[in-house]
Amino acid sequence: MKDVPALFGSLVFNDEVMQKKLPRDVYLSLKRTMMQGASLPPDISDTVASAMKDWATEHGATHYTHWFQPMTGITAEKHDAFLSPDGKGGVIMDFSGKALIRGESDASSFPSGGLRATFEARGYTVWDTTSYAFIKDGTLCIPTAFCSYSGEALDKKTPLLRSMEALNTQALRILRLFGNSTARRVTPTAGPEQEYFLIDKSVFLRRPDLVYTGRTLFGARPSKGQEMDDHYFGSLKPRVSAFMHELEEELWKLGVPAKTKHNEVAPGQHELAPIFSTANIAADHNQLTMEMMKSIAGRHGLVCLLHEKPFEGVNGSGKHNNWSLATDEGQNLLEPGDKPAENTQFLLFLVAVITAVDEYQDLLRMTVASAGNDHRLGASEAPPAIVSMFLGDELTRILEAIEAGSNYHGDAKRYMEIGIGMLPSVPRDTTDRNRTSPVAFTGNKFEFRMPGAASSISGPNIVLNAAVADVLRGFADTLEMAEDFESALSTLISASLRAHKRIIFNGNNYSEAWVKEAERRGLSNFRSTPDALPCYIDEKNIAMFMRCGVFTEQEVRSRYEIHLENYCKTLHIEAMTMAEIARGLIIPAVIAYQGELSALLCHKEALGRFDTTLESRLLERVSTLSARLLEALTRLEEEIEETRVPREELALCRFYRDRVFPAMQALRATADELEPLLGRRHWPMPGYGEILYSVN
Ligand code: ADP
Ligand code: MG
Repeated sequence: MKDVPALFGSLVFNDEVMQKKLPRDVYLSLKRTMMQGASLPPDISDTVASAMKDWATEHGATHYTHWFQPMTGITAEKHDAFLSPDGKGGVIMDFSGKALIRGESDASSFPSGGLRATFEARGYTVWDTTSYAFIKDGTLCIPTAFCSYSGEALDKKTPLLRSMEALNTQALRILRLFGNSTARRVTPTAGPEQEYFLIDKSVFLRRPDLVYTGRTLFGARPSKGQEMDDHYFGSLKPRVSAFMHELEEELWKLGVPAKTKHNEVAPGQHELAPIFSTANIAADHNQLTMEMMKSIAGRHGLVCLLHEKPFEGVNGSGKHNNWSLATDEGQNLLEPGDKPAENTQFLLFLVAVITAVDEYQDLLRMTVASAGNDHRLGASEAPPAIVSMFLGDELTRILEAIEAGSNYHGDAKRYMEIGIGMLPSVPRDTTDRNRTSPVAFTGNKFEFRMPGAASSISGPNIVLNAAVADVLRGFADTLEMAEDFESALSTLISASLRAHKRIIFNGNNYSEAWVKEAERRGLSNFRSTPDALPCYIDEKNIAMFMRCGVFTEQEVRSRYEIHLENYCKTLHIEAMTMAEIARGLIIPAVIAYQGELSALLCHKEALGRFDTTLESRLLERVSTLSARLLEALTRLEEEIEETRVPREELALCRFYRDRVFPAMQALRATADELEPLLGRRHWPMPGYGEILYSVN
């Protein structure tokens, strides 16, 4: 048995270590800084840095890095040794407060969407004091935000922290109105459930599509897919189990509270969920988790695929973002309370989330838009591209009664009594969990189920936080001015419900009927990434971001550009890889096979006394398909050529979607027909069966 408590956080410069290593006044000052989410005061920075360095070197670290999340999707680090000349020809281990607080980084190799002028390539990184430093691979990692020299955010952490600040400010105003004078901070909490595939490394290396793009661009369906449902929660294979044990242990050391692990629906698919934490820490931890998954898989001869749709016809991988609001006193603001007053407060926060999700449904959808996730959303394995909320039947009925109550009686006081009288029965987990809903209320939190497995959770959390903050600001403005708080509150709740109840849907989100019903309700349905992205720069959305201090208009526009570019690049690489595989691997294999077949056919015919039905039929079929393959390949290559024509970036995205992608699909369809004809011996790559069942 491992001593988990001793292991947990053993590579983290956490509270316990700080208390041990820092003078008491410095420790208290640092704690205050962390509580407020402020930056490190210069007068204690040298002491903190030096303690960090001592602790890190005791644990074998020789380097430090500012660890940050640029817009590339990965986590970036630039390692510096602690070394400093001692003036006598030797070196000492040194780490200054200045180096801890702020790092310089050449921003030019990270996407900035036009924010960074070429003459100003520098960017800088600043420690997010609320996220602990940790040691990874002998390097002290300092979680940092990354900005351009003129202060624009170039990363995913900066706007997340800003959105948390906005939410804190507005949520506290609401709490004060309910008489809470003691809470000092409200933070969004997040618990991301991470899905992934594990496949054998030697098999992976023989699939150029997986190597270059993370997903299979070809592949006929295997005779056994996920239809038996025998993988879900099934027992773990020994290699997978060994991987999971090591992963868990490494994550615990890094202070990531990995808690549950199990098999998922598809063969080779698994899930890991942590215990939730503050949103920015959860985001850091999720990045670390993805990174560790990849590196630890390698040690077991495995490859971890985080792509949203590695295999056609097999469920892809998502990342459920569980989200709630917590006070520093430990209260979950989305937990229905036992007392009527608590319940009204709960109701107000609930209604704020409903309002926010309805008003910014387009933005929420946009945060999960990517070339990879386009394969999942709306394909009956993940929620559709239409954002709606599941509240469960009972809670929905309560809300309907509240809305109707004030409607019909017009007597706010009385409705409040009705509402309160009914509330203690707000149920937890009585309704069957609706697994098809994009945004499901699951008792005391919302589960946002649209994100893809590969992307950072920062985007969705930024929008959730900012949108809810913005709605709460409106609520607080109204309520603070009200002469009669109770009646203003009831009017506000019922009016908001009336305006936004269209977003509530408890039925089956996978059904065709819902698509029609949603359209009737006026809900947006952005089926693909090029459809979803433009709402980023809608006036209403930019205005909201600006009101919350989350993004400047320029920052929004730069991000929009980066997302567009990302989509085009992804499809471009996929298209090029397909063409390369078709030309370089499939066509030669098809030719060789036809050579064998026709030689055999000639021989048999020369002998004159054997039946040649099989050979001639096969040859005919393969000949026909290979001609079609060449045609499809030629078309794809022409479409790729067409992408060079100068176009506006959004038009280019649409071109990839409407012209390049269908050409890819057509090429794939023909190749997938050829694959079973050639069989394992002649097909130039391992097939789905071999990949999906490669791990034992
Ligand atoms: P499931 O039944 O979907 O497995 P769980 O209740 O076990 O759901 O939780 C799933 C995820 O939700 C976990 O990562 C958990 O830590 C997270 N979670 C639970 N409560 C909260 C909360 N208040 N805020 C954010 N995430 C939460
Ligand atoms: Mg879940």
